[in-house]
Amino acid sequence: MTWVPGAEGSPYGVHNLPYGVFRHGDRPTQARIGVRIGDLLLDLDGAEAAGLVLAGGALRAPTLNPFLALGRAQWSTVRTRITELVTDPAHRAAVEPLLLPLAEVELVLPFEVGDYVDFYSSEQHASNVGRIFRPDDEPLLPNWKHLPIGYHGRGGTVVVSGTPVIRPSGQRATPDGPVFGPSTRLDIEAEVGFVVGTPSELGSPVPVDRFADHVFGIVLVNDWSARDLQAWEYRPLGPFLAKSFATSVAPWVVPLDALADAWLPAPDQDLPVLPYLRDVPHLGLDLRLEVDWNGTVVSRPPFAGMYWTPAQQLAHLTVNGAAVRTGDLYASGTVSGPTRAETGSFLELTWGGTEPVRLADGVERTFLEDGDTVTITATAPGPDGVTVGLGEVRGTIAPARAPHR
Ligand code: CA
Repeated sequence: MTWVPGAEGSPYGVHNLPYGVFRHGDRPTQARIGVRIGDLLLDLDGAEAAGLVLAGGALRAPTLNPFLALGRAQWSTVRTRITELVTDPAHRAAVEPLLLPLAEVELVLPFEVGDYVDFYSSEQHASNVGRIFRPDDEPLLPNWKHLPIGYHGRGGTVVVSGTPVIRPSGQRATPDGPVFGPSTRLDIEAEVGFVVGTPSELGSPVPVDRFADHVFGIVLVNDWSARDLQAWEYRPLGPFLAKSFATSVAPWVVPLDALADAWLPAPDQDLPVLPYLRDVPHLGLDLRLEVDWNGTVVSRPPFAGMYWTPAQQLAHLTVNGAAVRTGDLYASGTVSGPTRAETGSFLELTWGGTEPVRLADGVERTFLEDGDTVTITATAPGPDGVTVGLGEVRGTIAPARAPHR
């Protein structure tokens, strides 16, 4: 039980305690670390300054990175202490002045993103995209069930929820040759991202069973995608400018410690995988995503059906000796379930733009128009029937800017 008003039974109760970084009017230029409890934010900068929680100063930084670098033992110690502060009434007098209403703060990017990798680990998504982009071929390429396909994205253009997404311009193919202009097939990809805390050593792969030593927590991701640019540029080296203009993340990093009740067996893998990818137990996360387009929920992608697990993804990402660093982010790939109402992209939802969806205001859509807003939310099962909220990742499309000649 927590003494914090309104937090008991909330998806952001003491079982969750996601971390974020905020600015507040009392010190508007200083970004500070906080932890969410109910609809309040506990100022951890103030808490560490007051000696209420000790993390060697890591909680007084303007990003989560120094805290992420401390490692699992310290993450657990700090979480235990925060839990004490918000549950034991003896601490109420000292802690209550450090609680700020969420409505009063501006949430900023919670960590400085290092390298960003994006996987492609939903069998349904990969099959759907294969059918739409390469209708004459097998939907899955021969490598897909042997390794978690991924690409290196652009860490520097990862932005926090609420940042406007400027429509990208680029080349797209027409029957008369390539033309340049604003994307006409701008799309979303609903994904879950994994945030690396403890770095690995260059040359030393991270085995599947060491996932929790390195990954601190998860964050919701929208990997905005320009399908017309993508279709022209992706062969033979994969996505480039179709993805790198913006990737939005939720302001909350939910620690793995909050997700103990969300693990469940991942789908059986139909083909045997090579030894370095064998994870026993083979576990995924029961995260339920929801995609809202201008106020209409258009899809509910289930993360539990992902073919490749986050432990397999990390093992694959490092098997060649590549090191991960504090603040690296790797995303799951678009989360799509077996039905149209469970797809994590509008490419799939409207089947390549051929079957528009009707929103609650009666307007039909295929891809994103300027001014459209997409909000992705998610929950996970928590202890004793409560849910764990992952917050939201939201973005509104701003018009393309005139290009240089
Ligand atoms: Ca993606």
